Amino acid sequence: GRALAPVKEMVERTRTVSAKSLGARLPVANPHDELGELATVFNGALQQLEDAFAELRRFTADVSHELRTPLTAMRAVGEVALRERNPAILYDALGSMLEEVRRMNQMIERLLLLARADGDDMAAHLEAGLVRNLLVEVSDALTLVAEEKQQQIAVDCPEHLLAVFDPALLRLALVNLTQNAIRYSPEGKRITIRGLSEGGWVLVDVADEGPGIAAEHQQKVFERFYRVDKARSRTEGGAGLGLAIVKWSVERMGGNVELKSEPGRGSTFRLRLRSVTS
Ligand code: ADP
Repeated sequence: GRALAPVKEMVERTRTVSAKSLGARLPVANPHDELGELATVFNGALQQLEDAFAELRRFTADVSHELRTPLTAMRAVGEVALRERNPAILYDALGSMLEEVRRMNQMIERLLLLARADGDDMAAHLEAGLVRNLLVEVSDALTLVAEEKQQQIAVDCPEHLLAVFDPALLRLALVNLTQNAIRYSPEGKRITIRGLSEGGWVLVDVADEGPGIAAEHQQKVFERFYRVDKARSRTEGGAGLGLAIVKWSVERMGGNVELKSEPGRGSTFRLRLRSVTS
């Protein structure tokens, strides 16, 4: 009986653990005996659960906030417009409400994509492909948007550069990066999408001449809902999900993304893709 007493205590303590008390831990009398080891492993699992729950709570709060903001704006615009009888004002109000709807739509689509990413049920279709074709395709797709800000997108990539990638995932990553470059750079600036091979990897850079990102934000911008300048970025359309999607899509292809930037001197986002030989 005495020998089993500590086991009994562990059982009792474990019973009290619930989703609401994930902060509880089992006592570890001696970390070097079997029971101590068991308690340590169990405590580790509890810690992971506690972290996951905290992350989920934060995520839910962020999503609610992000959805509430455009809804509040739409409601205010609608209420004011309804008091007017002027068709021009009604027309403007509808336009601005549709803009908010478009933003919410984009955000929900991105959230769904990330939710599927978490579920890990999206297989990457990796194949060897010509990098330049895809860079040109992305540049062509966004040229009109860039021209609205008198910006130019230049593609600089050797014709025969091959890499291992999933065209849909690479397109997704590059469209997000190039849209950001357009959005955050002032009018008239140049955006360069460059492909090159280096040290057994194929690198794809999206470089802009925008405001840059300060060192303390450089890791965080890849987190969901992280924005450097919340107020400004929202009017320009983002919910802070774009770079989380970029990171997920390149990692899915066995690559990674890094950011080199200095405030005032632009930003370069570098994707590292597997080369055909590596
Ligand atoms: P968002 O949808 O807000 O653009 P992202 O995840 O794409 O979200 O980017 C996160 C934040 O990183 C942005 O809100 C912005 O502050 C900053 N950022 C992203 N790309 C650039 C860039 N090219 N130049 C300057 N800041 C950028």
